Amino acid sequence: MQTKILLPEDRIPKQWYNVIPDLPGPLAPVIHPGTMQPVTPDDLLPLFPMPLIEQEVSQQRWIDIPEAVREIYQLWRPAPMFRAHRLEKALGTPAKIYYKYEGTSPAGSHKPNSAIPQAYYNKISGTKRIATETGAGQWGSSIALACQMFGLECTVYMVKVSFNQKPYRKSMMQLWGAEVIPSPSNRTNSGRSILAEHPESNGSLGIAISEAVEDAVSREDTRYALGSVLNHVCLHQTIIGLEAKEQMALVGDYPDVVIGCHGGGSNFAGIAFPFIADKASGKKVRVLAMEPLSCPTLTRGVYAFDYGDTAKMAPVAKMYTLGHDFMPPGIHAGGLRYHGASPLVSQLVHAGVVEAKAVAQLACFEAAVLFSRTEGIIPAPESSHAIRGAIDEALQAKEEGKEKTILFNLSGHGHVDMAAYDDFLAGHLTDYEYPAEAIKESLAHLPKVG
Ligand SMILES: *Cc1c(COP(=O)(O)O)cnc(C)c1O
Repeated sequence: MQTKILLPEDRIPKQWYNVIPDLPGPLAPVIHPGTMQPVTPDDLLPLFPMPLIEQEVSQQRWIDIPEAVREIYQLWRPAPMFRAHRLEKALGTPAKIYYKYEGTSPAGSHKPNSAIPQAYYNKISGTKRIATETGAGQWGSSIALACQMFGLECTVYMVKVSFNQKPYRKSMMQLWGAEVIPSPSNRTNSGRSILAEHPESNGSLGIAISEAVEDAVSREDTRYALGSVLNHVCLHQTIIGLEAKEQMALVGDYPDVVIGCHGGGSNFAGIAFPFIADKASGKKVRVLAMEPLSCPTLTRGVYAFDYGDTAKMAPVAKMYTLGHDFMPPGIHAGGLRYHGASPLVSQLVHAGVVEAKAVAQLACFEAAVLFSRTEGIIPAPESSHAIRGAIDEALQAKEEGKEKTILFNLSGHGHVDMAAYDDFLAGHLTDYEYPAEAIKESLAHLPKVG
């Protein structure tokens, strides 16, 4: 009975997989928020280095992973895959459940898979400093680590409420040498104008994005970095699915369904896109994205052009959206609280290639507790949405008396999220479904494009 499926170090993939050539149709253009015209590479140069801009629009199916990036990937890659024998037994299911575990990275999630190459391409392009934002701190800690590895300075605007309530992620960023600034701050015009109106503001991801972007464009030596949503981030994350395919092949298996949780789409893209390549060439495999009922972008949003951020400074992209002024409630899966979604994942959902399901918070915590008690690993609250999806698929197989092979991505561990588990175990958590009226209201403010 094999539980842990490992690849040797020299089998870290040498190329990432780019899904763009295999999409069911051409990608919609990305629109400049000021001119409402398609963005050009020159528009993006104050924000990103050229190699990342090229990756953003590349039509090449396979893109080489630089040796310097593979060397750092070796710290935790190839990431392990596990067969969840104990969970299967607890469920009494005939289904086989496999999971790919991304929590072995130094930051504890999949996010360094993209932070490392982003820092690398900035370094070779002459960037000295990176400015970025972070909500709960997963992305901030990943980019702080990556900047440290390549000798870049790093400034992270951290949403003030998290800065005060999640001190350990802040400590991780500082330990890795980053400067962490509670947002809104008096360092930028956007921060100062919020503070002038609301001195007690707790901040929001939208405000922190505005501060980081303003910081980056106002300094020649500084660029911006984003941890999800963009095409180049999804590209870097495909290392997850590429390894997973090799690991499944090692044990002579192949999934009937591949599952990932969905916030901005990067870990889902990472596990799913390499299987979508198989699907494009005729293989039978279902692909399922799991999101919270409290922020149901893929299941209840619309597929339309919208701003990437609340302040309308970020580019306008065609994606599933709940509206850029959608205010998600303070659920514990902080990494899944984004109003939009990756344009790549969105197009695949719209075309019916990818299925999406929304699940309630309590059902996810119940799944996380069962998983901790059977498999031992304490999952990040975000990842618990994928676990819920896998468990529901396994229970369905049991009901139908059918065999089924399930693969899901365990995007990170929950060691820095214990306050959320404390709340759950103490019975303080409730379910929250976003009201249809409020979604309708924020969808009334979409920009008019073309
Ligand atoms: C950030 C995060 C997510 C959600 O982001 P995606 O870009 O949708 O992957 C999921 N899981 C963990 C552990 C995270 O840190």
